Amino acid sequence: MFTRAVTVLIAVLCLADVSAFAQPQSAGPSGAILFENVRIFDGKSSTLTGSMNVLVRGNTIDRISKDPIPVDRSANTRIVAGGGRTLMPGLIDAHWHAMFVRPTPAALLAGDIGHLNLVAGAEAADTLMRGFTTVRDVGGPVFGLKQAIDEGVIPGPRIYPSGAMITITSGHGDFRQPFEVPRVIGSPQSRGEQTGAAMIADSPDEVRVRVREQLLQGASQIKLTAGGGVASPHSPLDVSTFTEPELRAAVEAADNWGTYVTVHAYTSASIRRAIAAGVKCIEHGHLMDDETAKLIAEKGVWLSTQAFPDEMAEVFPPGSLERLKARAVFAGTDRTFTLAKKYKIKTAFGTDILFSPQLAPRQGELLAKLVRWYTPAETLIMATATNAELLTLSGERNPYPGKLGVVEQGALADLLLVDGDPIANIDLIKEPAKNFVVIVKDGKIFKNTL
Ligand SMILES: [Zn+2]
Repeated sequence: MFTRAVTVLIAVLCLADVSAFAQPQSAGPSGAILFENVRIFDGKSSTLTGSMNVLVRGNTIDRISKDPIPVDRSANTRIVAGGGRTLMPGLIDAHWHAMFVRPTPAALLAGDIGHLNLVAGAEAADTLMRGFTTVRDVGGPVFGLKQAIDEGVIPGPRIYPSGAMITITSGHGDFRQPFEVPRVIGSPQSRGEQTGAAMIADSPDEVRVRVREQLLQGASQIKLTAGGGVASPHSPLDVSTFTEPELRAAVEAADNWGTYVTVHAYTSASIRRAIAAGVKCIEHGHLMDDETAKLIAEKGVWLSTQAFPDEMAEVFPPGSLERLKARAVFAGTDRTFTLAKKYKIKTAFGTDILFSPQLAPRQGELLAKLVRWYTPAETLIMATATNAELLTLSGERNPYPGKLGVVEQGALADLLLVDGDPIANIDLIKEPAKNFVVIVKDGKIFKNTL
């Protein structure tokens, strides 16, 4: 037994050793990067600075200065001549599903998990190349993908994983067909559960088990579906799902681990019940009323919402119930953002792109859409410093200790060099391939076309 444990340990150590050298070729040297002559959007201020110099050392921003920063101009310090371009924090998507972006719903359930992981890996590289250096993953089996990215095996964003989204029998995320019921506790799991996409729980005790299983695997926050959803076959939009004691059980289990629960919820009733149970963040909120928006603000709860494009409904077949539900939700977008502004709700930006390799390249465009309700500066602040503030709710379970979403001394070096001024011209973020000329994550250069 002891020998076997030692063998396993040695195997693990060897793997760790190998991965340390398996950096993507596009990554820069792990020494220092000096950005000369850049104007800074710091993630918080609505104006750019004048010309500055920024030194990155290791994975953090070491120094920001108007005056030239003297460095050892040896091979290990990469100098980037900014030419007056804008240096800004990497973008953050607060509602992402790294495993669900490209496959169809059918492929997700029927596909080989190895294939799904490789597809998600390719998408993660593209996500980073769009300037999204961090995503908050609110459901899906991303622990392996996250590990591969963190080890440098493949390029990709930082991932704040929720693991499986937790739902009830018949709830959003229960992808079973009617012939698969009844479920007997202890019987083999449904396909959706086997893949780790979603887990079903129908009592406070079951909820506790499912929450703790995600925490065991490294979840930085917990996601429950508190009401009906668009993409699930047997989940009407108007329903509330978990009871308050069930939601409370999840909140308590997460709280014991120093982190928090976020819930998928569109309707006022499901949002109110979640808030009563101690949930700290609402995903979506598109069907909420004025009073509920006011309650969210009063309780200091976060709203992580999305400006869904109409085309997103088209991933579902014409005439399908899913497409009708999508249209009903999307009709609430304008009211949701208007209420969020009216009550000054702490609002996070996310895209929730699902099952659509066509939409994924438009991730930045979905951010730029927010100028319908916010100024360009407010829009960029939301996707950087504000989203980063939401991430801090993970407390000790934060997988990336350090400051994200800002350009300031001591912060983690996730940086974009933009060819132009994104506050004056927000459209620049719609075309990251052309306009993000340098992309740095964790102090490493993943793109440099200068
Ligand atoms: Zn989602």
